[in-house]
Amino acid sequence: MIPRREFGKLTAAFSVTCAIGRFGRAASGNYPFTLGVASGQPMPDGFVIWTRLAVNPLAVDGLGGMSEPVLVMWEVASDERMRNVIRRGTAEAQEDSAHSVHVEIGGLEPGRPYWYRFSALGEQSPTGVARTAPTSDAKLMSMRFVFASCANWQHGYYSAYRHMAAENPDLIIFLGDYIYESTVAGPNADRVLRKHDGPTAVDLTGYRNRYALYRTDPDLQALHAAAPCLMTWSDHEVENDYANQWSQRVVTLPEQFLRRRAAAYQAYYEHMPLRAASMPQGSALRLYGHFRFGDLAGFSVLDGRQYRSKQPCELPNYRGGHVVTDECTDRVDPARTYLGIEQEQWLFEGFKRSNVTWTFIAQEQLVAPLRQNDRAGRWGYWTDGWDGHPAARQRMLDVIATTRVSNPVFIGGDVHSYWVTDLKAEFANPSSATVATEFVGTSITSDPPPQELISLLPQNPHIRYFESRYRGYVAVDLTRDRMEALFRIISDRRDPHATVSTLKRFVVESGKPGAVPD
Ligand code: FE
Repeated sequence: MIPRREFGKLTAAFSVTCAIGRFGRAASGNYPFTLGVASGQPMPDGFVIWTRLAVNPLAVDGLGGMSEPVLVMWEVASDERMRNVIRRGTAEAQEDSAHSVHVEIGGLEPGRPYWYRFSALGEQSPTGVARTAPTSDAKLMSMRFVFASCANWQHGYYSAYRHMAAENPDLIIFLGDYIYESTVAGPNADRVLRKHDGPTAVDLTGYRNRYALYRTDPDLQALHAAAPCLMTWSDHEVENDYANQWSQRVVTLPEQFLRRRAAAYQAYYEHMPLRAASMPQGSALRLYGHFRFGDLAGFSVLDGRQYRSKQPCELPNYRGGHVVTDECTDRVDPARTYLGIEQEQWLFEGFKRSNVTWTFIAQEQLVAPLRQNDRAGRWGYWTDGWDGHPAARQRMLDVIATTRVSNPVFIGGDVHSYWVTDLKAEFANPSSATVATEFVGTSITSDPPPQELISLLPQNPHIRYFESRYRGYVAVDLTRDRMEALFRIISDRRDPHATVSTLKRFVVESGKPGAVPD
């Protein structure tokens, strides 16, 4: 039995307030750790630690003011003060990966915190804390994780990230739109709260500097240093509403778009604490994976962009999301896929083998159907999400039902608002069984949809809750008997010192799919 106190709370002494002072140090002279440190993909025996050297993080060539290869020393210690270093080694930071360093640490003890830091060019990085996962058979009593999505730099400050770090989570989950590729231009360009580093990112230099800009933020650096993360992407890590090899722009040929995707995926890898198994191969990057924390929680992290079918019923000049009526028969074609055949089979195999108490599916979008109006007021569905792939959604929910997956809970983002839904055996029949629970978190900063969408709820009886007026994240406290999801909101995204409060608390009891307000 591992009480959470031992698993996660040992690090309570790691003061976030105190830590923040050490992050976001401006570029000056030779200091190369301007983008902070991060850890990710925790396993029982280790995790990956990350940094990227950049003495001049927004250098116009995208190389952070670096050129020569640099030897980086890394250390992992069993104590916060780094006195008892139990692993150390070196890694070479090179120009072809923008001087990023990914070190996979193994051979550690399960279910406990470790501290890590880097040194290079005579300077030392801030110290980050990571935690190994408990062994898969450990009887874990509780854990806390937080999840976030949609952090448009231009729309506000990252107070939500700062407060996520202060939750002292065991795990952070990023569900996409970690960056935004597009830069506000035209008459609104001067109205943004924080300006992007340059125009819309379309090439490797552009994407590298976009990640670098976001990572200069002290609140985001503090968050990454506070806990290991799991991550998936949505569309804006590459281009709004892209699908697989297809740009939202009809005029862009797949071979052109794949070049852009390759650049975006390369920069993603360079800036995320991913294992070498995710190193990009051309325009491909393997992102999906299973992770687990003892016998308590499993996380299937999905990639909903790289393998999906082409958007259905494209408009003459636009292939991105739009509302289509039942006239669009392509939408319901059973051949359409959201995950791709291979990932879908992998997910279903995982469901069959799963033996954890809580089964989380971490992915980018709203899973539940949302019947809504098109611009002419006709009823239909949005093409860019799971609603553009209803047969794939049904296959997934059918497998969850037939394999009796234990406490399936979907977590998602993308829609810049809070949603709680019941994922039904048959959505057309509101009295059919609830197969899984769904929580969608609001955006960290990004502009919300109108709160008036709440008028759609009578048309969508499986949707239990909608709220778009607040920015924030979701904090989850998990025990063997219940899951508590706290909708944590910040006071004002325009205020870099915004405070946090709890808007709403939902509970899922083990064995009873469907969340209820507390
Ligand atoms: Fe978004």
